[in-house]
Amino acid sequence: MAWLKIKQKIWHLRGLLTIAPSITFFVILVGWTGVYQTLEWATYDFWLRIRAPETKDSRIIVVNIQESDIRALGEWPISDGKLAQLLEIINNQEPRVIGLDLYRDLSHGDELGKQQLNEIYRSTSNLIAVEKVIGETIDAPPLLKAQGQTAMADLVLDQDGKLRRGLISATLDDGQTELALATKLSLIYLQKEGIELKSIENSPRKILGKAVFLPIKSNEGAYINVDSRGYQIILNFRGDRDLFNHVSITKVLKGNIPPDLFRDRIVLIGATAESLNDFFLTPYNNSAHGLTKIMPGVYVHANLTSQMISAAIDGRRMIRGINEVAEWGWILFWSLLGSGISLVILERNLLRIDSISYLQLILIGGLLPMGMVFLTSYSLFLWGWWLPTIAPLIALIISTVAVLGYYNQNQKNLAFTDGLTNLANRRFFDNYLEEQWSKIKQDKDLALIICDVDFFKFYNDTYGHQAGDECLKKVAQAISSAIRSHDLAARYGGEEFVVVLPNTDTKTALLAANRIRFKIKGMQIPHKKSQVSSYVSISLGIASVNHNKPQSPQELIAIADKGLYLAKQQGRDRAMVAESE
Ligand code: GH3
Ligand code: MG
Ligand code: MG
Repeated sequence: MAWLKIKQKIWHLRGLLTIAPSITFFVILVGWTGVYQTLEWATYDFWLRIRAPETKDSRIIVVNIQESDIRALGEWPISDGKLAQLLEIINNQEPRVIGLDLYRDLSHGDELGKQQLNEIYRSTSNLIAVEKVIGETIDAPPLLKAQGQTAMADLVLDQDGKLRRGLISATLDDGQTELALATKLSLIYLQKEGIELKSIENSPRKILGKAVFLPIKSNEGAYINVDSRGYQIILNFRGDRDLFNHVSITKVLKGNIPPDLFRDRIVLIGATAESLNDFFLTPYNNSAHGLTKIMPGVYVHANLTSQMISAAIDGRRMIRGINEVAEWGWILFWSLLGSGISLVILERNLLRIDSISYLQLILIGGLLPMGMVFLTSYSLFLWGWWLPTIAPLIALIISTVAVLGYYNQNQKNLAFTDGLTNLANRRFFDNYLEEQWSKIKQDKDLALIICDVDFFKFYNDTYGHQAGDECLKKVAQAISSAIRSHDLAARYGGEEFVVVLPNTDTKTALLAANRIRFKIKGMQIPHKKSQVSSYVSISLGIASVNHNKPQSPQELIAIADKGLYLAKQQGRDRAMVAESE
């Protein structure tokens, strides 16, 4: 009994159980082309912009080189002498580490300056200078390179030119691993905190204090087939430039700074001047801000450095995706939810679907799902999870609408189907005949057959009502299988059936009628009490528009019925064409 109930429940939910997975599959398939990516990025960027602003990371300070500084210096590139002077002032305040985010493969200025700078390079073991290692390469100062005090400044951009990933390290063509500037600065900074990078055997996972690093995969988050070479993580920006302390190079060179400005901090030196062209698009750029919020490279390094040390020391969250199979589950979940909601709406009759307004449809099919998906995805984002948003949203909307449509259609079908035989019912037949009647053109015809089971009352009396029902089902099946696909069979009532045959004359209808008759007789359903045969048989009456010239559909039925009466009178188990008087 319980099993039967479960079976009924499953049958009842069959729409949902097939619709949701199919839609999920479809949405995932479409997603592989990458069509959602742009929208997924836009959503992600939006989340990043609207989340509560974070506090400044006071462990990092940026030394800016702005347009006004270049004017004050009176030269660019900055000469070796001036750079030596700058580094000396900074180093005198004992910073933990200095990152020189200026490409400096060649020397500039006089020989004296060069010697001074080399002296600084030799004596400053916590100075890291950048080089470019991917694509067209740019070397670091040779002396620092020899001392192992270099790191790469390369960044990876998305196809839309925006920066959302951080490159932690890269494997070079010669097999060497090169650390990014942010990584190297972080590791040196964290040494003093007693935090070291720990690798886990046979796993790409790395542990750094409270932080666990996992490299992104090519289909991570919203990404489809992204170039995930090297060790990349999703950049969890602390914020735009204003979230980092900064000071201008001019002020530093003038000694116009507090005595502890750099003490124990990470100092990043980089160009922010427009003319030096070291800028990147980030999620903070949107159409409203345009290019005014474009981020200088040095602040990108500051952000990534901050991300690493904050995660290691403070346990600040990373942002990461879930594995692909879990993503499919995530999309399926929303698809099921959408179909489920539609079902509840239908079951509780919360909406009369045939009178549903466009406004309601947009609200239920669009805005409500959007609100739910976006809210959930944003909450998860705040927890550090970047899950697809657009794909589930599409799955949810399609499922909601599809289930509404499917059950609505089912309901309609039910209203026009005979429950016992699954043929069209009387109501459908009436409409259909009316429709066909209005379509008749001059030279076209329309035929009608009425069938009635012979001595069916006796059949019931002999074999019982249930067996009678079974017999009617078989008769219905036989009729369906005996007619052409464009003919319509319907249960007219009790043990009477009708067939509407568009574009058919009496002669052809008579052939069809006999086909039906033989088919039923051929099934050899025993009927002891029949007075015309030992098997179930039927009598049929035929009429057609051209032959009988009726004035209305009702008259056509009446004439066919007369044919049936005639067939009964002449001994049953036969088909008769009616003659109108
Ligand atoms: P005739 O050869 O003149 O057609 O005789 P008949 O007994 O078939 O005709 P009659 O109209 O006297 O009886 C029809 C019977 O069909 C009576 C009714 O109980 C039976 N019947 C009608 N609908 C159903 C049904 O849905 N299931 C079953 N089992 N019997 C039905
Ligand atoms: Mg009858
Ligand atoms: Mg009968």
